[in-house]
Amino acid sequence: MSSSKNHLYTHILGYPRIGSRRQLKFALESYWKGESSLHDLIQAAEEIKKEAWEKQQKAQISLLCSNDFSFYDHVLDTLCLVGAVPQRFKSHNGPISLDLLFTMARGMEKSRRGQDSSNIPHPMEMTKWFDTNYHYIVPEFEKDQHFSLSSSKPFEEFKQAKFLGFLTKPILLGPISFLFLGKKKDPSIKNAELIAKILPIYEEILKEFYSLGADWIELDEPILTLDISTEWQKAFYEVYTKLKVAVPSLKILLATYFGALKENREIVCSIPIDGLHYDCTRAGQELQGLLQNWDKNRVLSLGIIDGRNVWKNDFSQSLKIIHHALEFIPVERLWLAPSCSLLFVPVSLKEEKQLNGEIKSWLAFADEKIEELATIARLALEENYQNDEQYKENQRAIQQRKTSGLIRDQSVQQRLAALKEKDLSRKNPYRIRKEIQAKKLGLPLFPTTTIGSFPQTAEIRKMRSRFRLGHITEEQYDAFIQEEIKKVVRLQEEIGLDVLVHGEFERTDMVEYFGEKLKGFLITENGWVQSYGSRCVKPPIIYGDVSRQQPMTIKWSKFAQSLSSKPMKGMLTGPVTLLQWSFVRDDQPRKITAKQIALAIRDEVKDLEQNGLGVIQIDEPALREGLPLRKIDWNDYLEWAIESFRIASSCVEDSTQIHTHMCYSEFGDIIEAIAKLDADVISLEASRSGLELIDSFARFRYPNDIGLGVWDIHSPRIPTVNEILDTLKKALSVLPKEALWVNPDCGLKTRSYEEVIPSLRNMVEAAHLLRKEFEAAATVNS
Ligand code: GLN
Ligand code: ZN
Repeated sequence: MSSSKNHLYTHILGYPRIGSRRQLKFALESYWKGESSLHDLIQAAEEIKKEAWEKQQKAQISLLCSNDFSFYDHVLDTLCLVGAVPQRFKSHNGPISLDLLFTMARGMEKSRRGQDSSNIPHPMEMTKWFDTNYHYIVPEFEKDQHFSLSSSKPFEEFKQAKFLGFLTKPILLGPISFLFLGKKKDPSIKNAELIAKILPIYEEILKEFYSLGADWIELDEPILTLDISTEWQKAFYEVYTKLKVAVPSLKILLATYFGALKENREIVCSIPIDGLHYDCTRAGQELQGLLQNWDKNRVLSLGIIDGRNVWKNDFSQSLKIIHHALEFIPVERLWLAPSCSLLFVPVSLKEEKQLNGEIKSWLAFADEKIEELATIARLALEENYQNDEQYKENQRAIQQRKTSGLIRDQSVQQRLAALKEKDLSRKNPYRIRKEIQAKKLGLPLFPTTTIGSFPQTAEIRKMRSRFRLGHITEEQYDAFIQEEIKKVVRLQEEIGLDVLVHGEFERTDMVEYFGEKLKGFLITENGWVQSYGSRCVKPPIIYGDVSRQQPMTIKWSKFAQSLSSKPMKGMLTGPVTLLQWSFVRDDQPRKITAKQIALAIRDEVKDLEQNGLGVIQIDEPALREGLPLRKIDWNDYLEWAIESFRIASSCVEDSTQIHTHMCYSEFGDIIEAIAKLDADVISLEASRSGLELIDSFARFRYPNDIGLGVWDIHSPRIPTVNEILDTLKKALSVLPKEALWVNPDCGLKTRSYEEVIPSLRNMVEAAHLLRKEFEAAATVNS
């Protein structure tokens, strides 16, 4: 395979799987509900795949890819491929069916559970894929783990493409990254043992592909951009040498992405692979070193187009890099590609009908990126590319964006520059604030509260969509939301919670809601990307300097506070989370954008305080996941993340209580940074990783108040009073009683009232019992 005369060779590392109109989501959900057949689901998948191949073909991509599709998740597919189904799902014998795959990912469907729920295997854990917002299923490795080739999915997909006339490059998660990303369920399991056992399966897979007629296979080893131990580094030499010996004629393209190789560069230069894919968008600075050390008989694929963001590629920059690379690498062995799979960007700009035309001309989603790729590959070999129409058009858009009036806002930049040290701190230290707040709020020991949202019922979603479609007026919608707030305030009072919330009924999503209101943010109509399984998110696009145009939450929070004499929490999403869950500008450092957002939130915080909200929560669930992949970069990030939170939260009086909330992650290693946020109260997810978290509080004395989630809201189980008491007592072994709050571990948006009401009652009851115990002890002692 080589470049044809007039363009460089191109390929992609994966195309979005959800379909341009989220067909996969709807097909999966209807299948899960029993409303459609397996045949319908497979049919929908076939069409999505076919469309992806046709698009690549039409754009004249040189080498199409297969096995980038997945019904749920590619890591889950890989564990099925190598037969790593955990023991608890093993009652299902025989080959791994799609139903078994779904059960591993989601647990058993309610309808299939029957009465007895005691022996339902709990679903496999999922976690974020590197620093993306995509979640993968975490493989589990058990004692005496056995692997065997157990699925034909990648082969079927390859054959299907071949039948349609496309010779594809199958994409597989590489064996070492697969093992690295899994969790060992028993401490006696050795990495070396797993590596030795999985190797023959990969040999078998490669042999099968060779016999099916594959020329190239792509093995993804993104862990090469992480800090990995020498044990894992060594594994690369062993595994790739053996794979080459076992299947010498199948060419291996090793793919790395999301960062620089650093000390792992030596590995990719010396193991026997036929090509390397390299992420130039994230690791451009080390390209020179790679070019100088690259064996010219091997392919080097430059990931030149950003697969993680939505901006148009700057052809002049890309061509500069490519022309430089061509001084080192022969033209037939320099390939071009997006930096990583296009899974992380929406499918097509064609679906955006209402988008601001000017901003739209700066964007490229997956389909547009494929076209950019083909165009750059052609321009790269053209003598007078500067005169090319497509080149000129691209440069016009790039220039236009740089100078557009939409991007810059002097007043925001001046305000940021004028920030002083004192703007980043509360007036007095927590010790003093705590007393003032105690007097003002009059809360009992072990105060109870929730994280913000209450169930988003079908009725609420229906009313919102009717409002959006113009079927009901704003007054009607507002009246409806007010009614919902009234109900939920009454419910919380009746249950006996101490700090109330308004329920967040007016929000579809904690990021989109603010994205719609903030200047500098853009909401797309159809810019969906997969989060996990059938779950998709529509990240806003931050295109310019950010500011608040008018109050965003005051109306509802103020109304809610007017209904009760108990303290009501104002609810905001924090700057780091708004940044982390959006597509961000690539024309200024992330930290600047974060601080601009922080200023906008600061305005809202001040307004909430002035409107009588004595408690304000600023959620930062994404703080932990924003950590850079390499430890060496952590401090810089934490510094600006903390600063951003403090910009947003420090403007209030000592008497106003600032809360924050974080979830989805292990906090042990950043607990000190969390303390520096100086929130008066933090609520952390703890019910799943509870004990580990308690360990870290034993090591580090957290200075302010803290609520450890006592109810895992991600599971449909109702926690008993005793369980909750138990968790609280464990927490009290490392935290002072004056500091402990009682709350669920996340918002209740996805749960039903059937679960929420008894769970909250149990939670409040547990807090009462604990208070009584302490009161009794106090009387005895006095
Ligand atoms: N306040 C938000 C809610 O309750 C927090 C969500 C989150 O942490 N992801 O829904
Ligand atoms: Zn949460």
